[in-house]
Amino acid sequence: MREDINQLLRQLPQVDSLMNLEGAKALAAQYSAGLVAGVLRDCLQELRQQLLSGRDSLPDAQALLEDAAKQLQTRFQTQKPPVINATGILLHTNLGRAPLAQAAADAAREAGLSYSALEYDLDTGARGDRQAHVERLVQQLLGAEAALVVNNNAAAVLLMLAALAQGKEVVVSRGELVEIGGAFRVPEVMEQSSCLLCEVGTTNKTKPRDFTGAITEQTAALLKVHTSNYKIMGFTETVEIAQLAQIAKAAGLPLLCDLGSGALLPLSRYGLDEEPCPRKALADGAHVVCFSGDKLLGGPQAGILAGDKPLIDQMKKHPLMRALRPGKLSLAALEATFRLHQDEALARRELPLYAMLGTSLDALYHKAQALKSAIRETAAHQLDIVQSQAQLGGGSAPGESLPSVALGIIPAGLSVQDLAQRLRQGKPPVIARIHKDQLLLDMRTVREQELQPLAQALQLALMEEARHA
Ligand SMILES: *Cc1c(COP(=O)(O)O)cnc(C)c1O
Repeated sequence: MREDINQLLRQLPQVDSLMNLEGAKALAAQYSAGLVAGVLRDCLQELRQQLLSGRDSLPDAQALLEDAAKQLQTRFQTQKPPVINATGILLHTNLGRAPLAQAAADAAREAGLSYSALEYDLDTGARGDRQAHVERLVQQLLGAEAALVVNNNAAAVLLMLAALAQGKEVVVSRGELVEIGGAFRVPEVMEQSSCLLCEVGTTNKTKPRDFTGAITEQTAALLKVHTSNYKIMGFTETVEIAQLAQIAKAAGLPLLCDLGSGALLPLSRYGLDEEPCPRKALADGAHVVCFSGDKLLGGPQAGILAGDKPLIDQMKKHPLMRALRPGKLSLAALEATFRLHQDEALARRELPLYAMLGTSLDALYHKAQALKSAIRETAAHQLDIVQSQAQLGGGSAPGESLPSVALGIIPAGLSVQDLAQRLRQGKPPVIARIHKDQLLLDMRTVREQELQPLAQALQLALMEEARHA
């Protein structure tokens, strides 16, 4: 017995000899010789252990190489793969918010793969401004004097307050001291910008005189924050931008507005309440507005600041700017997204967010139908096309929903949670919603090209049950 093991151990191939095989050479060309040798060494070590603990045969060299290839593949696989969002939540923050338009994704890809005239003036050969193009677009689209892009909207608020109100007071309504997404809290951002919060009014009611009464020599600005993710109903009163702008103007102070999602397109045609429009906010007298790039703009993560040139210039010169500036990939995608917004019909067609918002119930029904009929073996699982409620998400339009259609599944032999988990772990991962013991695959957020992979993933998840049973 002992003899056998020693013999097998002696028969273990050397890494060097394995590396001479055609299969290893191909792997080395794809990855690197060092990585392949390392993985093979690990495989052999593992085999040695197995032999010592009772294994009684050796795999052939081919099997060893296949094992190594699999390990390398796993090591180089992205751990953030694309997923199919069947939750019906359009701006799902945990799923990366807005998917990019093709043109925006292409622009980011191109900017990444080659040198670009990022900070280079092609006419003069001198150093250029990385934001000049995007600034021009924002100026045109919003009717703004000047504009600036930073990493995200949280950064925009931070920079705005730090550059314009450091060490001084900023007056804001008590009803607008919001927390967004667990980490962005208006009072805490103010603290980080070293300005002093002066809260006025009450949770549900703030009046113009609350603001006028709070302004002192210490005041640097008035701030309005869109209460993106919650709504106060009933006995309420807020001071609108136009009125606040008058108060600010009379006091010689800037009015700063954090608009949150920054909708450039009206939402009423989808049956949703309007979100604050940056163009209108500026026209109403806001001195600076800021909003996110990846919410209703439908672009990449970014924060956009727009408004009076002297104020924007102060932000451009602030030391924080360098720390908060966007990378060239985001800028390229953002610029392309803004270009699509130059025309409403173009934006609604090309931006996936608006294409999904605009899909008719009929079309959604047909998608659900196509998905249902693509599933062959349903065992005892019950599949039905049902009405559903999709949501905008991303901290916009709280409490509002969009009519939608879903494929509802009541699984047999496993819990609805287990089915959801199986779908999450599928290839591609599918994220579903659970509603009253039914698993819902909402068609509002599933795009045409995703139907087939979704059907395959679902088929597997349902059949797996049959196999296990
Ligand atoms: C979403 C939101 C933010 C944060 O924006 P990010 O782009 O996620 O950093 C800040 N303020 C308001 C009002 C928001 O809705």
